[in-house]
Amino acid sequence: MTSDTSIKKTHDAFFHTACSELDYKDDIFQLLLVANREIRLELPLRKDDGSLVVYNAYRVQHNNTRGPYKGGLRYHPCVTMEDARGLACLMSLKTSLMDIPLGGAKGGIDCDPSSLSDRELEKLTRKFTMKIHRNIGPNIDIPAPDIGTDARVMAWIQNEYSKIYGHTPAVVTGKPVVLGGSEGREEATGRGVSIIMQEYSRHNALSLAGKTAVIQGYGNVGSNTARILNSMGVHIIAVSDSRGGAFNPSGLDLEKVDANRRKYGTVAGTEETESIDNKTLLALVCDYLIPAALGHVIDETNAGEIRAGVIVEAANSPVTHEAHEILNDRGIHVLPDILVNAGGVVVSYFEWVQNLQQFSWPVETIQLRLQEKLQTAAKKVFTMVDAEKTTYRCAAYKVATERLKEAFFATGF
Ligand code: NAD
Repeated sequence: MTSDTSIKKTHDAFFHTACSELDYKDDIFQLLLVANREIRLELPLRKDDGSLVVYNAYRVQHNNTRGPYKGGLRYHPCVTMEDARGLACLMSLKTSLMDIPLGGAKGGIDCDPSSLSDRELEKLTRKFTMKIHRNIGPNIDIPAPDIGTDARVMAWIQNEYSKIYGHTPAVVTGKPVVLGGSEGREEATGRGVSIIMQEYSRHNALSLAGKTAVIQGYGNVGSNTARILNSMGVHIIAVSDSRGGAFNPSGLDLEKVDANRRKYGTVAGTEETESIDNKTLLALVCDYLIPAALGHVIDETNAGEIRAGVIVEAANSPVTHEAHEILNDRGIHVLPDILVNAGGVVVSYFEWVQNLQQFSWPVETIQLRLQEKLQTAAKKVFTMVDAEKTTYRCAAYKVATERLKEAFFATGF
């Protein structure tokens, strides 16, 4: 993270703007802002070398008015309670904007997974599950993969949880297909990013094919976004990960990027590319800049240097409130996270439904239903942007907040 501001503060500022435009009184703003429950855990782990390390873990359950809490689980040294608070609120808005019957949560373990052996990671995950099992479950809170976690981690959680409650695939989403995971979940967030960019282009009478894109972060979201956009005719001119980037102004050969990553664990050094650092990458001239790694990578110190036409928030909260104002003044559109990266939670919802039905849908059905959900939400947001001359972020927040508030009051509060 490059900014001193927390993700929670960024989210609060955006939420405040949306609630002001909606003419909400301050008490309603506060009610919708505060999390229902915050869990802090200490996880002692005996490492392979015999040393004992205590890890901090968090889970913030923000709002379950519209359905069980839902949100990712991160394994990363940047995991804090404060950021989990902000990210959990974002999840409540995301599920509301998508109109799926789920709430919002977020959490993780403050650890560097790359410094842990597979055995240590599994042990830590099972410990976490043992400590939190009463607070998660198919009708309570359903974790999913996020930075530093994957299908394997979800499988360990499911397995540990099922030892207590019996076979319960619906306790997590994003698990392996052989254990009840959904077809299409792995690529869902990247596919969703591409669908929203298609809708944005359509709405603004632009063609997506032939445009250039720069992607920061080449994990689950970044790599799938690159692959799908490339198949739509977009030239991916630069990608990066935590160890550096690869740049070719004529367009990258993604097979070579993937091969380099498989061999050396990084995209940096891919043949026929120039090396580029993450700071320079963000300032490249391109049509679409797609941050797909950590939060707050665009703040007031570098917002003035951005030379992209549109910023597409594939990561959660990559742009601070101050940076958003600068970009807005410069006429650079920012497509917000709660719309852009919602494909993951939409297919997680489909996975949960399939698990509850004990029935699986073919990938074509998943992709079609994902497209319908995202197109419906995008249309609502884009129509509001045109009608009210507001930003894409504010419109998305307003649609989501109105739906959440309506549900909240319908409960009899
Ligand atoms: P991941 O762990 O699979 O990949 C993260 C990528 O970011 C890796 O390539 C890593 O090297 C890179 N990275 C880490 N630190 C970096 C740095 N300082 N500079 C540049 N790159 C860096 O994670 P992911 O699942 O792809 O998630 C990426 C973002 O998308 C996160 O903000 C996450 O919250 C968001 N998101 C993920 C999903 C999902 O389904 N996985 C859904 C919605 C939103």
